[in-house]
Amino acid sequence: MKRLANYHSHVALCGHAEGIVEDYVIEALKHNYEEIGISDHCPVPISWMKEELYNIFWLNQQMTEADFYEKYLPQFEESINKHKNINILKAVETEYIEGKEAYYKNLLMHLDYLVLGIHFYESDGEFISSYGALTEKDLYNYALIVEKALDTKLYKILAHPELFLYHVGEFLPIHAEITKRIIFAAMKNDVYLEVNANGFYHQKYPRKEFWEIVKEYKNVKIILNSDAHYLKDFHGENVKKAVDFAKELGLNVSSKIDF
Ligand SMILES: [Zn+2]
Ligand SMILES: [Zn+2]
Repeated sequence: MKRLANYHSHVALCGHAEGIVEDYVIEALKHNYEEIGISDHCPVPISWMKEELYNIFWLNQQMTEADFYEKYLPQFEESINKHKNINILKAVETEYIEGKEAYYKNLLMHLDYLVLGIHFYESDGEFISSYGALTEKDLYNYALIVEKALDTKLYKILAHPELFLYHVGEFLPIHAEITKRIIFAAMKNDVYLEVNANGFYHQKYPRKEFWEIVKEYKNVKIILNSDAHYLKDFHGENVKKAVDFAKELGLNVSSKIDF
């Protein structure tokens, strides 16, 4: 399996992963990657929501804003100074909460790009988890939050775009409708849709029905990322599965991102 780049992986700062930036860079070098972007879960200020929800979404374990400046960014500087034979990019994976654009914009000033991963979002004023059983209204609000987020032009990649299907058994017309709205938002804003290898862990994504629709649109950009939380997963079995999945479906996956 030949890979040139990976743009979504984590470090121990999020509280549910291992390693530091340097560990993943070494892993990438070992497999002859030309480019690596690391995108740990971004800090979320506790003032944004009730503490109970904050803990449910694991945000209490993630890096704080202080960690971002004092630990996360220095890890990159150290590796960038050390390695000249690989391009190392700084990123975070973030949610999108309306009204907080200034916060995300400020993070981006210190980074190369932002990955949008909607693990939770506001549906009619309530924060809900994307992993739950979403009602019809929640599904439409998922599409809407993707559209609003991508319209800000802050994001380069939409991670595991089919997360709204996590709880879905039978793929219905409404799911196809949401899928198309996501595709259009991505095309309009030049955002890459991600085939996420980490999803093979719980066998919930990548989801064939979703990507079969994506395939119908020739202009949508697609990237394949490991979303590794452990070093063994950076270039591991699930990445191979994702590569095979994309190949079988005939998806036009970019080997590198065009910045
Ligand atoms: Zn994670
Ligand atoms: Zn994610």
